[in-house]
Amino acid sequence: MPICKLCKQEKPLIKKSHIIPDFLHKELYDQNHRIKKFNAKGFKLGLTRISKPPTGEYEGGLLCKECDGEVLGKYETYLGKILSKSDMPKEQKPICRKIRNENGVEFLEIRNVDYKLLKLGLLTILWRSDISTRKTFQEVKLGPYEEKIRKQLIEDNPSNDNDIEIAVMSWRNDKKMATDVIGQPRLHKKNGKTYYSIIINGYIVLYFISENSIDKNFKSFRLKEDNTLSIVNLPRGYGMEFLLNYTGAIESKE
Ligand SMILES: [Zn+2]
Repeated sequence: MPICKLCKQEKPLIKKSHIIPDFLHKELYDQNHRIKKFNAKGFKLGLTRISKPPTGEYEGGLLCKECDGEVLGKYETYLGKILSKSDMPKEQKPICRKIRNENGVEFLEIRNVDYKLLKLGLLTILWRSDISTRKTFQEVKLGPYEEKIRKQLIEDNPSNDNDIEIAVMSWRNDKKMATDVIGQPRLHKKNGKTYYSIIINGYIVLYFISENSIDKNFKSFRLKEDNTLSIVNLPRGYGMEFLLNYTGAIESKE
């Protein structure tokens, strides 16, 4: 009997696990029900939709049914709820406020998020990318952090907010930029520190995996234990340039 990558038990494994949750693909279906996808190099060339794979990315032989649908499923369900802002009792709804700070940085301050579910939900996408053998996710290689995050996910333990820091940027308020794109997860190295980014529906999620690897500019905007997250809005008209620099698309090696 094969071994499930999350619970490490010998169990039958399901034949079809998604890597990026289906609900994130919902916005992305075109009229032919095919997913629009771009890669960073295509984006640079102005081609926002370079390929149209027929479905989302699935892979079998990774997880047992319980781990896929229940353990990880509950975190992903929360992600889906806060993104769609529906299906949520009033007391659980995130409270958003647009703010411009003294440096002219525009951000969306979000209060009343569930720190534990949101952090573990975002880590689920990264961890699923890590265990996937598919080409789209090849840059995600967590090494020793694979086991660390596995334990966090199965033990329902988000750890503190200085331990794997997560920040989110958005270009959703820039009408000229498409929000219906998904980018392959990327590995970045800056000043000897490593972090990952995943682009989903107009958001860029940044994962600062190793200790103190967070860019100091993001320190006050990251997801915090006080159930807040501030999403930095990329300046209108600068989204594309910023994105290309930030995601390292200019050095794309394809
Ligand atoms: Zn399992």
